[in-house]
Amino acid sequence: MRRRDGRQTRVAAHGFIMSLIVQKYGGSSVADLELIRGVARKAIAAKNEGHRVVVVLSAMKGETDRLIRLARTASPDPAPRELDSILSTGEQISCALFALCCQTMGEKVKSFLGFQAGITTVGPHSKARIGNIDPSRITTELAKGRLVAVAGFQGLDRNGDITTLGRGGSDTTAVALAIAMSADMCEIYTDVDGIYTTDPNVCSNARRMDRICYEEMLELSSLGAKVMEIRSVELAMNHGIPIHVRHAHSPRKGTLICREDPSMERTPVRGVTHSMNEARITLLRVKDEPGVAARILQVAAKAEIVVDVIVQNKSTEGEMRTDLSFTVPAQEFPRTMELMQGLAGELQAEGVVGDDEIAKVSIVGVGMRNHAGVASKMFQALASEGINISMITTSEIKISCIIEKKYAELAVRALHDAFELSKAPEGETVSAGWDPRRRKTPAGKAPPRRPARGPGLRQTRWRIPPPSVPVSVPLPHPSSSVRPLAPGTPK
Ligand code: ADP
Ligand code: ASP
Ligand code: MG
Repeated sequence: MRRRDGRQTRVAAHGFIMSLIVQKYGGSSVADLELIRGVARKAIAAKNEGHRVVVVLSAMKGETDRLIRLARTASPDPAPRELDSILSTGEQISCALFALCCQTMGEKVKSFLGFQAGITTVGPHSKARIGNIDPSRITTELAKGRLVAVAGFQGLDRNGDITTLGRGGSDTTAVALAIAMSADMCEIYTDVDGIYTTDPNVCSNARRMDRICYEEMLELSSLGAKVMEIRSVELAMNHGIPIHVRHAHSPRKGTLICREDPSMERTPVRGVTHSMNEARITLLRVKDEPGVAARILQVAAKAEIVVDVIVQNKSTEGEMRTDLSFTVPAQEFPRTMELMQGLAGELQAEGVVGDDEIAKVSIVGVGMRNHAGVASKMFQALASEGINISMITTSEIKISCIIEKKYAELAVRALHDAFELSKAPEGETVSAGWDPRRRKTPAGKAPPRRPARGPGLRQTRWRIPPPSVPVSVPLPHPSSSVRPLAPGTPK
């Protein structure tokens, strides 16, 4: 049956329109066989409701870390190509185990590794990006009435080598597949029942949000909230695909990541997050003249080190020398120190000092654009706990402070309290019981019309636009080709 918007729609025997759902289950949701059986039951139930279901699986909890340790035991500096081959086996195992569990429950299922699912990547090992997806094998299996399982976090590069997508990369596999296959919904199942105002494992009165917009989720992810991997959010935002984050072993509705709506701007701050993965490097008393900062950052860029917060003060009158500090991910600390020590002589700096006992705490909210006094409230909340701020950085919808690592969780709780995030703002609560999957429409009655999508999204072979604007820069709004939320989702 061809719909008015040109898309092909399937009608099940019972006369309901079938939607295509991509479900992703994270490591903690598939940590042992019993949990994998539970996940299998959940996927089968969705299929029995009349949907076509593609399931993306992460490695069993702790497995990727175990494989990294194993590789490092074999070689202190494992070759990236071999390391990726090893790491990809985590998802290979969970995916095949899922298929076996489904089969023992009498379900027709086929599992695919990343390359078998047509996922090709670009970029370096261990942080490759999905460049192209040819989902034809998946489509064929779905058409035969099978459930399809895909190993997350991996693909094949142009040399035919296995690559991995970076930690948390199964989220990206799921979102990319959902886009490539024009899925109706992408569901991310995890060990929490949605996106909270802050990490619920750090702050016991964190509140689950019904909805969060892409921009806010993007900031939270980039600033340390690992619940969603950042590139998956970026992709979903650029293609306007809604994501439903929910608990793997609970029927409760979760949080919808979707486009911004005016109610989200009513409160200035909607989330707090922190990152312990930070280190600061300071070049002491470098010359305050054109080209010095550029030279320092060129050296970091050439080594593919991502620099985050940068602070340089104006030199005092007559001095013409100043300190320049910047932060890098903690794992890059030793390498960056070495590079900067090499550069210090060339720049006639007085020395280089570093500190990896730091953390970054951030507040995020689209409402910051039109509320005054947010920064002072944040600094006051930290001050009242005796927490000193050593660096500050802001964007339109976030403020981040670098503080001592030992105070990070205290700072999160103080900020959560100061901005009263445990209280649901008026008008934010969404009518109970919405379910983005409930798109079934009796056959014969036309489903609500959806605007045609951009041409790229209708292709069977599909290319993700080249990445990527630096993630801390607010990304452009999704274009008009973006689809609306599924009918029934709150506006
Ligand atoms: P998975 O294994 O399913 O991929 P992750 O461990 O990657 O799950 O992400 C889930 C975790 O993210 C939660 O257990 C929680 O501790 C953490 N988290 C951090 N910030 C948030 C937040 N704002 N809302 C919900 N969870 C968060
Ligand atoms: N197994 C990988 C990791 O632990 C990918 C994922 O779980 O998303 O990072
Ligand atoms: Mg994850």
